[in-house]
Amino acid sequence: MEDKIQSAINLLENECQKKNVSYSLSLIDPQRKCKLILSGNLLHVTLSLVAAFKNLEQIAEKTTCNCPTCSEFKRILDIDEPSSEDSTESNCDRIDALLEEFFRGGSI
Ligand SMILES: [Zn+2]
Repeated sequence: MEDKIQSAINLLENECQKKNVSYSLSLIDPQRKCKLILSGNLLHVTLSLVAAFKNLEQIAEKTTCNCPTCSEFKRILDIDEPSSEDSTESNCDRIDALLEEFFRGGSI
């Protein structure tokens, strides 16, 4: 892992331990190599993972865009397409806004 990213993770780990905050952190590089880092209370870590998954499911269920990216997003989460209409037109503004809200700590 890149040194700057590892340093940021180490800083996060130290600060979370000081404040008794549990966390789950997932990273993925452009080659889709994933790394999952869990720290703290197992129950709290599990709750954070479930909350993240449920949020992504809700976002996927709300999106009506059928562009290749959104279709893949919904396929990964096993969300049925609302219609069989094929569309290559991208309408990702709404899903981007929902994801931004989620990553800023929006509704869970
Ligand atoms: Zn889209």
